[in-house]
Amino acid sequence: PVPEGYAPKDDNSLPAYLAAVPAVAARLGGGPAGWRVREVGDGNLNLVFIVEGPAGGVAVKQALPYVRLVGESWPLPLSRAHFEQMALATQAKHAPGLVPAVLHYDETLALIVMELLHPHIIMRQGMIKAVRYPGFVNTITDFMARTLFHTSDLALPAAEKKAAIAAFCGNTALCKITEDLIFTEPYMVAENNRWTTPQLDNIAKEIREDGDLKVAVSRLKLKFLSEAQALLHGDLHTGSVMVTQDDTRVIDPEFAFYGPMGFDIGAVIANLLINYFSQDGHATPDDPRGAYQTWVLDCVEGCWNDFRGKFVALWQNGAAGDAYPPALFADAAGTEALKAEQEAYMDRLFQDSLSFAAAKMIRRILGLAHNIDLEWIEDADVRAACETRCLKLARDLMVNTANYRSIEGVTAAARAMR
Ligand code: ADP
Ligand code: MG
Ligand code: MG
Ligand code: MG
Repeated sequence: PVPEGYAPKDDNSLPAYLAAVPAVAARLGGGPAGWRVREVGDGNLNLVFIVEGPAGGVAVKQALPYVRLVGESWPLPLSRAHFEQMALATQAKHAPGLVPAVLHYDETLALIVMELLHPHIIMRQGMIKAVRYPGFVNTITDFMARTLFHTSDLALPAAEKKAAIAAFCGNTALCKITEDLIFTEPYMVAENNRWTTPQLDNIAKEIREDGDLKVAVSRLKLKFLSEAQALLHGDLHTGSVMVTQDDTRVIDPEFAFYGPMGFDIGAVIANLLINYFSQDGHATPDDPRGAYQTWVLDCVEGCWNDFRGKFVALWQNGAAGDAYPPALFADAAGTEALKAEQEAYMDRLFQDSLSFAAAKMIRRILGLAHNIDLEWIEDADVRAACETRCLKLARDLMVNTANYRSIEGVTAAARAMR
């Protein structure tokens, strides 16, 4: 049910509304008659307006009571805006400067006014054109290490952690989208699914009949349902990253909730690998993509290796949580044991991350929501060849995860997938 007072904003009604919010009016400058409004939402779910005035600009994101991509037949609660602004606040606290600043939040309108990222573009768009972003790995690994560490039991006392879990646990409708679209539907006959047909018909059928794979993805689903390890962004693909040559920002955390850390790390790795495989479909004799593919795989390696180093450093410098009580590890033997356990913890997280990456690669090719990295390859045979390589790596990553001892093993397997 849509609350009293809710109505979707449009180009005409937005300026007068924003004029009544002093912080926003001041940022825009001048008066509402001189503000330029454009609806730019390219996502699947929400309205996004860019508003520009003589002094500056803002981005306005408003939830709709349904899934934008599908229409009113698929209702979705407005409360996702509440969880998004709460996540933005938590992320700004732990990873300052890496998310857009929130200027105003209106709970009734499910509307967030935030800092306009300009001249940033969505990273996925740049990657399709083979643009390199030299600062990406450093920033995304900072973002993940800080947000995941500082919201985990390694950093938080138990009561605080449980209160934080409770604050996000109402985001069930968004979690359910993930549960269905990532962990279930690609592995069965479902109306939402689509793939490059007829080229992928056989591999889609093989996946629906692959018992080992279905057990593996169900284990992951169980982990997603039950393991409240840290505050996840929940949708950390390259369409949720906005970039320039020297700035990287993370947007769109409406799927945020307390879940398994490997889900966010896996999302980043998966979307880089999808782009890697897609490049064979964008390469032309005048525009070969081999060197770019090398850069993408360097990013995959950096994302894991730098994340791992940063996360362990945070743990060694400032663990104030109730897990691993310092009193147990104060002596020399304890110090050694804790160090070894930190490495073992990261090894387990690595395995989780690879498995979640695999689930995301598969769902982007066989499920409802596809990536333009692959979708924009016009020749269906060429696209299907890229998709097949991606699916084969994903299947092996999910079922034979333990064979991958390092991220370099993953990138070597990607390179060998021909
Ligand atoms: P959705 O949840 O519907 O996917 P997003 O938060 O991803 O919505 O935003 C959709 C699009 O709006 C983004 O791809 C980006 O182009 C634009 N956008 C979102 N936030 C900002 C911002 N703070 N500054 C500039 N553009 C933005
Ligand atoms: Mg989005
Ligand atoms: Mg979104
Ligand atoms: Mg995904």
